[in-house]
Amino acid sequence: MSAALIDGKAFAEGLRGRVAQAVTRFQAEAHRAPGLAVVLVGEDPASSVYVRSKGKACREAGMESMEHRLPDTSTQAELIALVQQLNADDRVDGILVQLPLPRQIDDKAVIAAIDPAKDVDGFHVVNAGRLAVGEDALVPCTPLGCLMLLKDRMGDLTGKSAVVIGRSNIVGKPMAQLLLGESCTVTIAHSRTQDLPDVVRRADIVVAAVGRPEMVKGDWIKPGAVVIDVGINRIDADAGKTKLVGDVDFAEAAAVASAITPVPGGVGPMTIAVLLRNTVVAARARLGLAAEPGL
Ligand code: NDP
Repeated sequence: MSAALIDGKAFAEGLRGRVAQAVTRFQAEAHRAPGLAVVLVGEDPASSVYVRSKGKACREAGMESMEHRLPDTSTQAELIALVQQLNADDRVDGILVQLPLPRQIDDKAVIAAIDPAKDVDGFHVVNAGRLAVGEDALVPCTPLGCLMLLKDRMGDLTGKSAVVIGRSNIVGKPMAQLLLGESCTVTIAHSRTQDLPDVVRRADIVVAAVGRPEMVKGDWIKPGAVVIDVGINRIDADAGKTKLVGDVDFAEAAAVASAITPVPGGVGPMTIAVLLRNTVVAARARLGLAAEPGL
């Protein structure tokens, strides 16, 4: 391995520390802590774990965490009624509805019901639109975390050639918008892209957000490129155990790239740290307070 490791865990810890300091300042100005409401519908075990860790991280940063659990038989109208109640609650600065939702509920209708000023996941079309036209927006946590890691590693990204593999609304598309905002020349690849290895080989920056274990091979990577692996895939390992791998073949890519994120310990820890950051950003904006420069 010749590539430097991009330590997302360490960066996320630093960001969480800066968020905690920002929370203290907010409290002095607003006489209350920023509040994040997390809504979980049903009993999905992975979602329950995420919701619990989000609540814990919130409290550790000094914020107020409000958890709302609804049964998996809930109707869309019931969930939207809860969202509207949270929209109207002044103590709530951020609303996160944990996805996926049960089949009878349309994600889009629920996201559309969230006040864009409290949309700390950045999924509302108003925030997606603001990001697209280059206005201040609440930006989805995972891609914003990737951008923070890239800027920390590379400094100014102007003129770099970037390939984002994946075009989801949650990762790929906002990632591409953020890189465009940094004046990169951006290509978005997806399942219909032809000659994907050749496309990736042109990139100074590769962001893989595909959901296919170790799909991106070492000989796809331009020597010296920086590789951000968003993928989280659980695969079978030795002795009946499982392990987590990314969308990039780490050992192969690390021999060619100049820097790479590991899985786990790369992008993963950034997502919750950025969620806390977005909550403070939303809280300050709602009260008309100046933005925190360190976030
Ligand atoms: P989606 O399934 O929504 O999107 C996957 C994208 O990959 C699609 O655009 C799809 O193309 C594209 N794709 C699939 N197969 C191929 C292929 N063979 N070649 C090229 N492109 C392909 O996934 P998400 O964006 O939600 O997540 C992507 C990965 O990131 C997953 O592993 C997920 O677990 C992980 N993730 C990690 C997070 C973190 O905190 N670290 C947070 C969110 C996600 P098409 O549109 O044509 O179907």
